[in-house]
Amino acid sequence: MNTETFNPLQVVQRQLAVAAQRLGLDPGIYELLKEPAKVLEVGIPVKMDDGSIKVFRGWRSQHSHATGPTKGGIRFHPEVYLDEVKALSMWMTFKCGVVGLPYGGGKGGIRVDPRKLSTRELEQLTRKYVDSIAEIIGPEKDIPAPDVYTTPQIMSWFMDEFSKLRGYNVPGVVTGKPVENSGSAGRSSATARGCMFVIREAAKQINLPAAGTTVAIQGFGNAGSNAAKLLNDIGCKIIAVSDSKGGIYDPNGLTPSDVIAHKAQTGTVVGLAGAQSITNEDLLTSNVDILIPAAFENQITTDIAKRVKAKIVAEAANGPTTPEADEILFNKGIMVVPDILASAGGVTVSYFEWVQNIMNFYWTEAEVNQRLEDIMVKAFKQIYDMHTNMNVDLRLAAYMVALQRIANTIKSRGWI
Ligand code: NAD
Repeated sequence: MNTETFNPLQVVQRQLAVAAQRLGLDPGIYELLKEPAKVLEVGIPVKMDDGSIKVFRGWRSQHSHATGPTKGGIRFHPEVYLDEVKALSMWMTFKCGVVGLPYGGGKGGIRVDPRKLSTRELEQLTRKYVDSIAEIIGPEKDIPAPDVYTTPQIMSWFMDEFSKLRGYNVPGVVTGKPVENSGSAGRSSATARGCMFVIREAAKQINLPAAGTTVAIQGFGNAGSNAAKLLNDIGCKIIAVSDSKGGIYDPNGLTPSDVIAHKAQTGTVVGLAGAQSITNEDLLTSNVDILIPAAFENQITTDIAKRVKAKIVAEAANGPTTPEADEILFNKGIMVVPDILASAGGVTVSYFEWVQNIMNFYWTEAEVNQRLEDIMVKAFKQIYDMHTNMNVDLRLAAYMVALQRIANTIKSRGWI
C-alpha cells in the first residue's frame, strides 16, 4: 500500500509539528497555527460568451494575522481544492516568517481552467471573485497576488474592481500588478531572482561554481522561465525545461530567450527546434547539478527521489517534495533549499510593491533588486546557521527560524 503523504495540508501540518517540537514551543501555539484562522468559500456566477451561466467554486484562506495582514497569491486551476488552498496559506505564513515580512499567510483559489475562458469571461470571473471576497480583503487586512495561471492583467482587474467598490483607488489591495497600474519594478521576475540568489549562496556552501553548472527546471511559467533566464545570465547551463505538455533537453544548453519565444508562439516548450523531447519524469531525474521544481506540489515523490541526481534541489514551487521523498533526498546528501526560502522572492517584492503603494513613491528596478538580494542573502545565512547549529536539514531550519519569530509575536501580544 502506498502510504506517501500527498495531501498538502497534512504535509505542512507535519512540518509545523516537527518544528514546534524541536523548538519546545507551547502546544497552544501549534494548536493556533495548525489550521487557518479564517476561510471563505464562494460560488462565483459568470455569464459566459454563449449566454449561459456557469458557477465556479472559489476560496480565500487567511492562516494567521499574528504578524500583520495576510498575504498570498490566487491560483486559477481546474483541480485546486480547499485543503490545497489552506496549505498554501500556511506555507505563506512561514515564508513571510523566513524573510521577516510583517505579514501572515493567505491564499486564494478558483477551480477553473483559465486557458478555456475568453478574455471577457476571465475578467468577469476575476471581478465577481473580488465582489465575493471584498469584505475580508484590503491593504490592512489581506492582500492577494499572482500564483499559478494568474497574471499581472488579472491583478489589475482585481485592483480596479476593489477600487470601484470602495469609491477611490486602492492600489495596495493586491500586488503583482503591471508597472503601468501601480505595480513595482522587478515584481514579475522576483520569485525567480530570489531563487537565483539562494541557489548562488547554496552553491558556495558546496563549492559549486556558477559557470557551467547544469540546471533542469520543471514548469516554464513565471517562476520557471525567469529562473532559466537569470541563471543563464550568471553562467549556468540550462539543459532541460518542461511545462504541462512535456519537456525538452539539450546537453549543450538551451537558450532561454528562444524557449520563451517558442512557448509564446506555440503555447508549449515542446517542439523547440534542435532540442530532444523528454517527459517530466526524465527531467526530474536528469543528470544535472541543480534541479528546480517550479510547477506544483507533490512532483518529487519517493520513486522520483530515489533517482534524483542533482546536488541541489531548489524549490521554486510550493510543496513540490513529499515528506517521504524529502527524507530520501536528505539521506542521499542532496541539499534541498526549501520552498519557504527558495520561493520567498515573490512575496518579498510584493511587500515592496505594497509599501510603495502606501507611500505613493516608487523605486527603481535596481533599488528593488538590491533590497531583495539583501533580504534573501540574510535569510539564507540565518537558516544555514540554524541548520549547522541545531544539526537539522535546511527545511526544518527554515521552519524553526520562521516559527520562532511568529511564536515570539504571539506571546508578546498575550495570545498564549
Ligand atoms: P505559472 O502559471 O506562471 O506557470 C506554471 C507552469 O507550470 C506553466 O509553465 C505550466 O505549463 C507548468 N505546468 C503545469 N502543470 C505541469 C506539470 N504537470 N508538469 C510540469 N509543468 C507543469 O505559475 P508560477 O507563478 O510560475 O508558479 C509556479 C510555482 O511557483 C507554483 O508552485 C507557485 O505556487 C510557485 N510560486 C509562484 C510565485 C509567483 O510569484 N508567481 C511565488 C512563489 C511561489
